[in-house]
Amino acid sequence: MLLNAFGANPQHLRGFSAESGRSQIQIETKFKLIPSPDEMKKHHRFLTAEPHPAGSERNNELARYIADLWKQQGWEDVTIRRYDVLNTFPREVSCELVSPIRYQTSLREEPYDIDPDTKNPRVQSAYTGLSASGEVTAPIVYAHSGNPEDYDLLRKNGIDVKGKIVMVRYSNPYSYRGFKALTAEREGAAAMIVYSDPQEDGFKRGKVFPDGPWGPESHIQRGAITYDFMVPGDPLTPGWASVEGAKRIPIEQAKSIPKIIALPMSWHDAKPFLENMGGPEAPKDWQGGLPIKYRFGGNARAHVKVDMDNSVRPNYVVEARIRGSEFPDEWIVLGNHRDAWEFGAVDPSSGTASMLEMSRAFGELKKQGIKPKRTLVICSWDGEEVGLTGSTEWGEQFAEELTSKAIAYINVDSSASGPNFRPDAVASLAPLIVEVSRSLDAPSGKSLYEEWKASLSRQKKETRDSVMVDTRIGSGSDHTVFLNFLGRPTIGLTFDGPYGVYHSMYDNFYWMNQFGDPGYRYHALMSKLWGVLALRLANADILPFDFAFYADNVRQFVDELQKKSDPQKRFDFKPLLARIAQFESEAQVLNRAVERKLESEKSDSRALSGLNQQLMRVEANWLNPDGIPGRPWFKHILYAARYTYAHLELPGLTEAIEKGDWQVASQQGKILEGALEKNAALLRAATAEISR
Ligand SMILES: [Zn+2]
Repeated sequence: MLLNAFGANPQHLRGFSAESGRSQIQIETKFKLIPSPDEMKKHHRFLTAEPHPAGSERNNELARYIADLWKQQGWEDVTIRRYDVLNTFPREVSCELVSPIRYQTSLREEPYDIDPDTKNPRVQSAYTGLSASGEVTAPIVYAHSGNPEDYDLLRKNGIDVKGKIVMVRYSNPYSYRGFKALTAEREGAAAMIVYSDPQEDGFKRGKVFPDGPWGPESHIQRGAITYDFMVPGDPLTPGWASVEGAKRIPIEQAKSIPKIIALPMSWHDAKPFLENMGGPEAPKDWQGGLPIKYRFGGNARAHVKVDMDNSVRPNYVVEARIRGSEFPDEWIVLGNHRDAWEFGAVDPSSGTASMLEMSRAFGELKKQGIKPKRTLVICSWDGEEVGLTGSTEWGEQFAEELTSKAIAYINVDSSASGPNFRPDAVASLAPLIVEVSRSLDAPSGKSLYEEWKASLSRQKKETRDSVMVDTRIGSGSDHTVFLNFLGRPTIGLTFDGPYGVYHSMYDNFYWMNQFGDPGYRYHALMSKLWGVLALRLANADILPFDFAFYADNVRQFVDELQKKSDPQKRFDFKPLLARIAQFESEAQVLNRAVERKLESEKSDSRALSGLNQQLMRVEANWLNPDGIPGRPWFKHILYAARYTYAHLELPGLTEAIEKGDWQVASQQGKILEGALEKNAALLRAATAEISR
């Protein structure tokens, strides 16, 4: 049973006594007045004026722009950190259909008069980050989404892809293109073309650019294929930072570097290939949005040449802080990546624009003499698109400090591509997000809380408070090092909507102003939301974690695994469930003690500092120093991502059960039990600390 996890209590903000809650509301009210859509739009125009991939001069210039701005805004210790890491730029990418007809692909996106940015000569052609270099002429096979089951089906139809070029599509359900590349590599394919089928993000979904938000005929979804699901960050320094003098492993030993040639393609370029594929007709669910019969292949041959410059170049992380007035050694870390495949209006510059107005608001408060009790650390990451590189290197460099000081990390990658609020968080912080959403006004005039519920019900999703925040966290953005490597609680925030131009040059200023967020109202809402969440964590008397809700979530994960498991029940879930019940009951006792403490008196946050130190340690207890089997970098035992980037709960145990490896399953079960026991004891000690 949940104890008050989501109840709105007008008397108390979660973690605040009545008195400190009142002053917190005053601070938040001042804060929320500051972020301005017009200022945001100015930043956004500048950020999206030129393509700015990681390692480019323009992206480095933006690093200096952000650093200068933070200094002007009044942030302290503004520092630009340099990491020398693998980058990825195309020298030459070409692809030609050679039989049964000849067709030379353009690998370019078409300009439109209405949008001058689409004529920028510095927009690059189609390329795939960290593709191998090479050249091949070979038969071509259509492999649907390029997932393992697709190759099984090809095999059943007598088709082998060894030495061939596979053509796959960005699929629904989504799987990370790096997983498609690894699968093609394992199948022995010589090269992989991944194209955007209109079924997924084009005219089958709605109006296309420049008349609508979906991808037009020539849009290309760029992106990296780095195997960062094995280990993220610079492939040559797995688990440590790429700082000056760091040891680097030989490139042949790097697990996260693909060995396959790959390139992305628009459906404009892919269509002649699909039309001339030949061979048996592919099944119904392999058919896409083009008015042709999709076939497995048999007649067609293509020539692919990819020559990449994947050399070491600097990436720059910009970092700044506002030191806490009472607890300078407790940090709330806020971050967004800066690098984009091209203009990156949504991904990531919408987040960057929101961040720069949030940081201005914190600077203004500071000028008014209002400083947070705990330290705010803000970061502009680099190389996220290549392999979560900047945040990973930074997290690895400051691992020790972050483990003892970081209370939470709040990530905003894309802040707004539409009006639908979609937060994710470790379960202990989910109730805080729901609470904060009640205190923000959405553009509709309703509260964010109400607008969020309405948007969920429009999308035919559940609207109960307890399921509104997604507590199943996969990978694919900069929270990864914090959660999976450092065991710090994370929150991810975004507003989304129809968005078919992801990683193409049409993800630009025009698109944002026509479709994504005209008026920048959701950008501004994000600045406020992000800032208020940071302020709640920074100023709370007692850190606003809800571990009873966490326990309930972990039980759900176990229940689901149990339902999916072997009916012969070769893994005994009972001891694990007993440990969860114990952790939950300690958490409920603690929640009641916290409530009493906050109601009984005006609280003295200094006296509560020992308690907060204990609460901060819970997340790190979910780490196993050995990591999950086969992926030692991923240390969190509740959360990880599959190779597809899909969320994967209880990763060690789940993967062992899926493989039927009962010995490993039993070991992983014991590790979970141990962590639950440790955390139950920690919460018991925390309750004792309150009652002292
Ligand atoms: Zn992004």
